[in-house]
Amino acid sequence: MRKIKFGRKEERTGSWRAILAAAGLLAAAAAVSTGCQMKKYEKIELTGISETEEEKEEREALAPSEASDTVQNPPRKAESSPVGAEITKETAPEMEARDETVYVSGSNVNVRDFPGTKASVVGAMNQGESIKRTGYSQSWSRVIYQGRECYMSSQFLTTTQPAPLETTAAASQGTSAQAGEVGLNSGWKYADFSKINSGKAILYKAEGANRKGKVVCVNAGHGTSGGSSVKTLCHPDGTPKVTGGSTAAGATTAIAVSSGMTFSDGTPEAKVTLALAMVLKEKLLARGFDVLMIRESDDVQLDNIARTVIANNMADCHIALHYDSTTNDKGAFYMSVPNIASYRAMEPVASHWQQHHALGDSLIAGLKGVGAKIYSGGKIDMDLTQTSYSTVPSVDIELGDKGSDHSAASLDKLGNGLADGVELFFKN
Ligand SMILES: [Zn+2]
Repeated sequence: MRKIKFGRKEERTGSWRAILAAAGLLAAAAAVSTGCQMKKYEKIELTGISETEEEKEEREALAPSEASDTVQNPPRKAESSPVGAEITKETAPEMEARDETVYVSGSNVNVRDFPGTKASVVGAMNQGESIKRTGYSQSWSRVIYQGRECYMSSQFLTTTQPAPLETTAAASQGTSAQAGEVGLNSGWKYADFSKINSGKAILYKAEGANRKGKVVCVNAGHGTSGGSSVKTLCHPDGTPKVTGGSTAAGATTAIAVSSGMTFSDGTPEAKVTLALAMVLKEKLLARGFDVLMIRESDDVQLDNIARTVIANNMADCHIALHYDSTTNDKGAFYMSVPNIASYRAMEPVASHWQQHHALGDSLIAGLKGVGAKIYSGGKIDMDLTQTSYSTVPSVDIELGDKGSDHSAASLDKLGNGLADGVELFFKN
């Protein structure tokens, strides 16, 4: 049986109906482009198998009221709720106009699209990070986050610069985590949905004068021994997949990490995605990006959810590298978020799908720029586990398929295109 942990009791006030209403509100807000939506992005998920009796039991045990609480009410540690939860833009507190730089004085402090703890979380900031404040009330501050008006709890903002923490991991884990191994923190949102998580990702920090202060998670697809005999929930709220792929539409669980395909020449996909990841790591570090490598060997014990949650908490974007299972060398594309209302209204997809698309579009533009072959419009809609749990810009990008060239020269070219795409994404 899956164990579900919840956030603090006081954050678990939403009924199933209230959550549905909130999701509707979010969808409406997204439609009129209010709030603090930034970039878009998307990601891919794993394979699925038809549901067994045991899985059905598990799903029924989860659905829907309890499972849903874990979706809308993340247990963000550093945010107590200074204001009631029902605030919208219309009922927001009066704000004094400000034009000042303020600093974050907490770890993982939420950035929201409305001033209220029920508002959608669009990002998080850490100790010492600065942000422009344009409005102030005792409870909430209006800030400019990635070019948009957003809100943060005033109690975690200060006009004097506090000492920065080493990394998010250091803040969340209470350890002195620096560049080095990063494991899954069980307190992170959605961490409980992962079933394979004893492995460690590795954080590298750029050292040149061109440091960007951005962490790019490079996720070499596949490469988890035993991953295909374990299943995880497709969606954090227990709802079924909305599109078919390696996991059929309608399935509520999918393989935790599949083994991947085999190229026409007999090379395993996992080997090529790893080789490409190593190439991309060096290129990103040289360009001043910090890099979080999910995997640097043939086997890391991190399932797709664990990889995603680590990226959510440790990186500014998440790029999963894959090759598709067709054989006609059809070119590169990313997995875009299906335009299905229920899926785009489900958190965290609702708050982040546009960021996923922005990242995917940037990567495809970068690949195009180096002359890589691109499939059709450069994207295919897919409901993926990665996308379904991502709270930072996140895509599954397929660099080709079984018929594609995966020589060192080809990987070098793709690495340049992807690095160009990352630069483009953060410039936009
Ligand atoms: Zn793959």
